[in-house]
Amino acid sequence: MANESIKRVAFIGLGVMGHPMAGHLARAGLAVTVFNRTAAKAESWVARYGGRRAATPREAVLDADMAISCVGNDGDLRDVALGPNGILSGLGPGAIYADHSTVSADIARELYQTAREAGLNFLDAPVSGGQSGAENGALSIMVGGDAEAFGAARAVMAHYGRAVAHMGGPGDGQLTKMVNQIAIAGLVQALAEAMNFAVRSKLDADRVIGVISKGAAGSWQLDNRAATMVEGKFDFGFAVDWMRKDLQICLDEARRNGAALPVTALVEQLYGRLQEKGFGRLDSSSLIKLLIE
Ligand code: NAP
Repeated sequence: MANESIKRVAFIGLGVMGHPMAGHLARAGLAVTVFNRTAAKAESWVARYGGRRAATPREAVLDADMAISCVGNDGDLRDVALGPNGILSGLGPGAIYADHSTVSADIARELYQTAREAGLNFLDAPVSGGQSGAENGALSIMVGGDAEAFGAARAVMAHYGRAVAHMGGPGDGQLTKMVNQIAIAGLVQALAEAMNFAVRSKLDADRVIGVISKGAAGSWQLDNRAATMVEGKFDFGFAVDWMRKDLQICLDEARRNGAALPVTALVEQLYGRLQEKGFGRLDSSSLIKLLIE
């Protein structure tokens, strides 16, 4: 399928990420049909961006050149992709299905295989960059699957992706996202410990952040989450529930490939403690709450 032939897109899952991502496609002039389990969100999306709303994932994709989903975990992806009302039951031959959820590499490979047997293309395409990345069209997108399907889908993803990279065969997008989450997990805990230390030392946190962000401690997390950690602001961004899900996916995969993940395993437990305290929907920078309470 040539790039220019993707004109009709179905978008399934209008959450924190999917809502603005689908919006970028509508603004770019594509014909977008949306499905969301909670219908009110689809109604408000259509009221804002135009396009059409469907009653099931299958109905949304019936005349689509490309289907896109952004839901929660492996089970959620199964719910929208498979079964008689699922995405794969409705797509026409040769169409492309790209999933932006963060899920296991196993389900990505399974969906690739199921799609292939039906004459369809599947791409696992998890994203990084958070809510603001989705709203500003500045996501990093890590894609696994066939090069030809990637070549066709890339221009569509570029409407909300700043870096869109083909990482290899089926599952390799999800494996790359795991690397991303492993790289973040210990860093967020280290930042929480550093900021708690600064506060207990009665330093001016803003001045600390200002000077150390220019040196070797500089990072996206320091620039975007250190000040809000100190202020106790966690009602935004990337939920604890999602981060724990992602780290559990990493730990499962590491049991297979033999990689040691001692710090990731510890941070996964810390997120579990936050969930026990009822903080599952707070931003994942809320790790500092375990140090100050
Ligand atoms: P969210 O705000 O909770 O939205 C989840 C969406 O999936 C909602 O539209 C929800 O429908 C739908 N959904 C969930 N389970 C479903 C099911 N069983 N059947 C049908 N629809 C279902 O989540 P999000 O923050 O957009 O995250 C979506 C995915 O992107 C996750 O895999 C997450 O790990 C990943 N991600 C998120 C971020 C971030 O910063 N938020 C960053 C990178 C990656 P309802 O409206 O009916 O609940």
